Amino acid sequence: MAADAPRSNFIRQIIDKDLASGKHSSVHTRFPPEPNGFLHIGHAKSIVLNFGIAKDYQGQCNLRFDDTNPLKEKVDYVNSIQEDVKWLGYTWEGQPRYSSNYFDQLHAYAVELIEKGLAYVDFSSQDEMREMRGTLKEPGKNSPYRDTSVEENLQHFADMTAGKYEEGKAALRAKIDMSSPFMVLRDPVIYRVRFAHHHQTGDKWCVYPMYDFTHCISDALEGITHSLCTLEFQDNRRLYDWVLDNISIDCHPQQIEFSRLNLQYTVMSKRKLNLLVEEGKVSGWDDPRMPTIAGMRRRGYTPSSVREFCHRIGVTKMDNQVEMSMLEACIRDELNHGAPRAMAVIDPVRLVIENYPEGEVEQLQAPNHPNDESMGSREVPFAREIFIEREDFRESANKKYKRLVLDKEVRLRNAYVIKAERVEKDADGNITTIFCSYDPETLGKDPADGRKVKGVIHWVAAEHAKPAEFRLYDRLFQVPNPAAEEDFFSTLNPDSLVVKQGYVEPSMAAAKAEKPFQFERIGYFCADSNDSSAEHLVFNQTVGLRDTWNDEA
Ligand code: ATP
Ligand code: MG
Repeated sequence: MAADAPRSNFIRQIIDKDLASGKHSSVHTRFPPEPNGFLHIGHAKSIVLNFGIAKDYQGQCNLRFDDTNPLKEKVDYVNSIQEDVKWLGYTWEGQPRYSSNYFDQLHAYAVELIEKGLAYVDFSSQDEMREMRGTLKEPGKNSPYRDTSVEENLQHFADMTAGKYEEGKAALRAKIDMSSPFMVLRDPVIYRVRFAHHHQTGDKWCVYPMYDFTHCISDALEGITHSLCTLEFQDNRRLYDWVLDNISIDCHPQQIEFSRLNLQYTVMSKRKLNLLVEEGKVSGWDDPRMPTIAGMRRRGYTPSSVREFCHRIGVTKMDNQVEMSMLEACIRDELNHGAPRAMAVIDPVRLVIENYPEGEVEQLQAPNHPNDESMGSREVPFAREIFIEREDFRESANKKYKRLVLDKEVRLRNAYVIKAERVEKDADGNITTIFCSYDPETLGKDPADGRKVKGVIHWVAAEHAKPAEFRLYDRLFQVPNPAAEEDFFSTLNPDSLVVKQGYVEPSMAAAKAEKPFQFERIGYFCADSNDSSAEHLVFNQTVGLRDTWNDEA
């Protein structure tokens, strides 16, 4: 399937029907993040769904910050969210919106409900309210404040708004049904007192609307046609509809729920991700091991690979856990075709070619992609001393080992056939240098006498290579569903980051951050956007060459 080709799902089918029946003439969606953390791959699913629908139906999608909780929200998050949505390839309609833009209207609608006898100020304590709420099996009890007169309620709400009540002492509740089988309809709180500074409205308000009251009205004010959210809001839809049915507003968007993305071996709740950051378990929200958009981006994931992942997982109402290998396959497939190749040695051992002239340097041509000539080629210096991977040499080995063995030949990628003659070791028996000879007639061709050389290994020229740090990543947690653990910190993988010091070919000094290369035979890597510099090159592993998730028993 072509990248970004629309793939149908039950929500698109509803939209098709609404357009065909004339219920709507165009589609207007929104993406409503709460600015209390960075966006993660779960949000990407919602972004691709909402913005993707707007794009494919020539409609519109708003970006709206759901900022009704001033205590947990920060402007830094507002900025990172905008950056991440843009990076994913989407633009929102007009300016970003804020639920707080509507605080005046929301307040007026609350007053309208009071005037209609559909809301009241409750002075019960939070414990008392909890007690009166009942349970799934038992109906709730009416609050003693439920039948206060409209006039009194108007005065109480005005007093609440004027700051006359402490936090927790008074709350505005919708008057719906204390025996409803849907707990959300048991007179939900719609406004509460919070003496908090808000990042958008400053100190203007000391009462803040609750999410359920805010969301439906914000959707309606923006003319949203289809309000897409995750399954845990299924019951809240009753309240969404109740509010819009009982205030004077013309627009009534349709809320449709779909299942959240859960990804194995990581956590997706912003609260938990925040804990990882706060407790220093990762270097920040953009740590490449985090399932955040910023982390994946720093690691070398591309916007198209993330979008492709969202297309592949699809949109349904079924809760499930997606394997990490599905995400990795998307970036691997893309990079296999599109990433330029280069050579790097991450665990180096010195190799000296004794019959190669001392002081001589050849500039060899290396293709940037083995199957795509249009990607061109580059010069790679070759000299008498090179580095190869320590694991690519053995003093003795059976036939299955297709690398360098003492007395045997191997081909150096993009260069000559060499033969290992002898080794030098330190006092502990570790090999310090491998001495070889080379066959000068084998550059770009097989040996003339017809002897077969099967193995190919990569290398870099010792004097020309640039030292580099390599950061190799593994799953952040040791169990598939860390969120289910009581102490999810205890399941962190202590080896989720392994740092190696090695070398890259000189052309890599110019590598741009976030642009992945395939280091041949090692994996895909990109320069780190925070820590890599000309003096100290740092490369992050994007993904391995093969799927290793399912190899380990
Ligand atoms: P979290 O539990 O991580 O804090 P949230 O739902 O509170 O998530 P919001 O910022 O409110 O986070 O989410 C913005 C939008 O993204 C919502 O419409 C929400 O349903 C959607 N969303 C959040 N997490 C996921 C997920 N894992 N899969 C799909 N959609 C998600
Ligand atoms: Mg939320």
